[in-house]
Amino acid sequence: MADKVSLIGLDRSALGAALVTAGFPEKAVKMRVGQLWNWIYVHGARDFGQMSNLAKGFRDTMEAHFTLARPEIVTEQISNDGTRKWLLRTGPGIEFETVYIPEKDRGTLCVSSQVGCTLTCRFCHTGTQKLVRNLTPAEILGQVLIAKDALDDWPSTAPGRSVTNVVMMGMGEPLYNFDNVKAALKIVTDGDALALSKRRVTLSTAGVVPMIEKAGTEIGSGLAISLHAVRDELRDQIVPINKKYPIKELLDACRAYPGASNARRITFEYVMLKDVNDSLADARALVKLLAGIPAKINLIPFNAWPGAPYECSDWAQIEKFAEIVNKAGYASPVRTPRGRDIMAACGQLKSESVKERASTRLAAEKLADMQSGQLARMPH
Ligand code: SAH
Repeated sequence: MADKVSLIGLDRSALGAALVTAGFPEKAVKMRVGQLWNWIYVHGARDFGQMSNLAKGFRDTMEAHFTLARPEIVTEQISNDGTRKWLLRTGPGIEFETVYIPEKDRGTLCVSSQVGCTLTCRFCHTGTQKLVRNLTPAEILGQVLIAKDALDDWPSTAPGRSVTNVVMMGMGEPLYNFDNVKAALKIVTDGDALALSKRRVTLSTAGVVPMIEKAGTEIGSGLAISLHAVRDELRDQIVPINKKYPIKELLDACRAYPGASNARRITFEYVMLKDVNDSLADARALVKLLAGIPAKINLIPFNAWPGAPYECSDWAQIEKFAEIVNKAGYASPVRTPRGRDIMAACGQLKSESVKERASTRLAAEKLADMQSGQLARMPH
């Protein structure tokens, strides 16, 4: 029923207010909120009928007013490396992607914050899609719930979880959707909800400088910066938000990031674009630029997409670049591309209409053929 109110993404007080509106007595609200919170976020209940220890009358009334429905799954794809990608839909034209990346010792969920993006970074596929709108807390959280449902990853507090890390590195710029991202991450990191430590949550930004300190204070997750260039002249071109907030201001904001320390380093992402930003002089400038900031460097081999104006740096060049970064004291700086065959790798996410989706899929298949040679040369 379209007019049922979703309880997903409401904080405890909004959840309580919803119960009062539905006519439940105020004195029992706190207890009810606790029970619902536990069922929804610890046990992953998808409907009220599942809440077996709650009175039938209560469950029926809840069912009549509220919903715990997830976004609709349009497609689910599984890469030959085990990476999974879901295309989700919550309304006409509201489609967004979520990616799960399993590794030996952890599983990372890459979550979208917007449908489309305003930033137009030249190398990013999402950047070619105009902003449709910000995702709501329910839609951001819905991505985590969908993945946990699919991976059978409930209860959230059990040992050996599949989703151990959440990164706001999907479609969109999370700091342009601050309130909704914050509301969703509060529930992700709530010990009585999805129960991930703040250290296991990372927010990535292209550099919305005025929001960085606020993110540290009010969200307190790990921070990643999409740096990608060491000179303003180049960064202005490939990450256009740099024209508004140039490198120096960005790095000053990083230096002031609340909670950054050698134990909690800021990640600097650097996409390797052939003959654009991958010279050894750039590598040396990069380590110089970051001196004094508690930093990790993540070199991301460029992931191609149909019509992309760049190529990935040659593997030999990435190795030489990485060696300079390594010698400066940054361990294992190259991010292994994951899920390229299903267009699930960094910067490949995008949602489109049904017709366009089919053509993207065909293009992705062609690309996967092209890239299998390239991937074979990469260390794993
Ligand atoms: N808007 C935020 C969140 C997106 S994170 C941000 O810019 O940080 C996605 C990461 O993948 C960013 O570091 C982005 O710059 C990088 N990326 C984008 N397109 C890419 C591509 N084609 N290949 C590799 N990395 C890419």
